[in-house]
Amino acid sequence: MARIAVIGAGMGAMAAAARLAVAGHRVTVYERTQTYGGSVRRLERDGFSFDTGPGLLSLPAVYRDLFLKTGKEPLEDCVDLVQVDPSSRHVFADGTQVSLPNASRAGVVAALDEALGAGAGGRWGDFLVRAREAWDRTRRPLLEEPLWPNWQVLADREPYPAVPHKRLLRTRRAATLAEVAAWELRDPRLAALLEGHALAHGLDPRVAPAAASVLPYLEHAFGTWYVRGGVRELARAVHERCLARRVEFVLGAEVTRLLEKDGRAAGVEFADGMVAEADFVVAGVAPAVLNRLVAGTAIRGAGEVQAARGPASRLTVLLALRGARPGDSAHRTVVHTADRDGELESVFGPAPGPAASPTVTVLRPGDPGLVPDTGHEAVTLTATVPAEESRSTTESFARHAEDMIGVAERVVPDLRDRLLWHVVRTPADLAEATGAEGGAVPAPSLAAAEGRMLHPSNSTALPGLFTVGGWSHPGGGLPHAGMSGALVAGLIVEGPEFRGSQ
Ligand SMILES: Cc1cc2nc3c(=O)[nH]c(=O)nc-3n(C[C@H](O)[C@H](O)[C@H](O)COP(=O)(O)OP(=O)(O)OC[C@H]3O[C@@H](n4cnc5c(N)ncnc54)[C@H](O)[C@@H]3O)c2cc1C
Repeated sequence: MARIAVIGAGMGAMAAAARLAVAGHRVTVYERTQTYGGSVRRLERDGFSFDTGPGLLSLPAVYRDLFLKTGKEPLEDCVDLVQVDPSSRHVFADGTQVSLPNASRAGVVAALDEALGAGAGGRWGDFLVRAREAWDRTRRPLLEEPLWPNWQVLADREPYPAVPHKRLLRTRRAATLAEVAAWELRDPRLAALLEGHALAHGLDPRVAPAAASVLPYLEHAFGTWYVRGGVRELARAVHERCLARRVEFVLGAEVTRLLEKDGRAAGVEFADGMVAEADFVVAGVAPAVLNRLVAGTAIRGAGEVQAARGPASRLTVLLALRGARPGDSAHRTVVHTADRDGELESVFGPAPGPAASPTVTVLRPGDPGLVPDTGHEAVTLTATVPAEESRSTTESFARHAEDMIGVAERVVPDLRDRLLWHVVRTPADLAEATGAEGGAVPAPSLAAAEGRMLHPSNSTALPGLFTVGGWSHPGGGLPHAGMSGALVAGLIVEGPEFRGSQ
């Protein structure tokens, strides 16, 4: 039995902790805040309840596997998982609207044909077939296996089979997601649909490789899921599973230094100088935090991936409304911007700031557990904004929140009249919840793009130190962070020969 110190109680770290405890190790999680879950938090007020982190879950199989491997009760006995149908409604800049059924290719094709004109559905359906090929080619190395030592193979090879495109007598193939949208989808609304997936993950479609096509594919193929009571319930269930497996949690314990002995990780030190010795350390924190903990220690080997993407954050507005949620409301509506270039330039350009005309995701869960009674509704608005420390003030975020409410009015009639109060959650609030500078939210790892979209491996150059969660392989997002927990547990239990969890 080894003593294992886990830094941070984010979803990736807790997933690793539960698996390591089941393997017979003594696991203690040290969390700097007073609660578990990291970005998966909840705000409760006046009988309303809101997720302040992710509001939906994709690929629940990752958490099903976690619950299967760590106890008798399956995931479905611990949380109430429901498929979201329609998976999303889209309102495009020209006013066209379409509702896309959950996980049904034929249904999606028919809905797009009807809303956007004959042929649109076919083009999207053909795109999904190619995206599936990219997914099949990268699923194991990018999600289910530790990062290959020869990861450059993944970086050099574009897995998306782009359609040859004739331009100025030259034949080219789309290299970026924006080129896939422009050359293969050939409709600004389909382009917005595709690029919206990248933006929602904090990625710039103009530079994200065509391989990012796996993001819409993943949602399409495995469905969109809601956890009744809010996604925070998933964090609660994972935390409870950890406790049931005798993982110890020490809250309010900020790790300030990694202890080293004889060239390996030997434990952690806290702000008050106390130490906790350990045989293995698993760090589930952002890169800048980790760098401070290991100051002066080269933990990444030469040639190791250093994720170099422009970090993006989220601006979230929580709306408490009087009046019942209409029964035909979509759970998720994406209101696409009318100024695509302006939005991308604002979020990812050289002078970052929230976009004047943002793409806004409107979540309207039909969940009685989130409201004081049936005469009220809880609505969450999210926009992608740059991660930043100080460029935007609270006042400027309040202004942008007003802009987002203005956008949401297009799909929530009488919103302003119904509004009781609202709360704005800024990147600074996210930084407080996770410790990530500027409230940056990590994106999932992607192939191609010369490795710029990969995250560093879970093993480090310092024996005994592993990294878990959204900032290491296979990257950000609930399913990816959950997989990182499985990979770290595999690497510690089985050693460096561990080749994957399935
Ligand atoms: C608004 C928002 C929307 C999102 N939407 C989606 C979505 O739709 N789909 C999706 O899949 N994902 C989404 N995500 C991302 C997803 O929530 C994360 O990728 C996922 O939760 C993984 O988190 P993690 O394991 O990296 O831990 P994190 O959530 O980053 O938590 C890290 C933890 O470490 C702790 N910590 C930091 N430093 C120290 C220290 N020195 N000592 C001790 N503890 C420390 C922090 O306090 C925190 O609890 C969203 C995130 C946000 C914020």
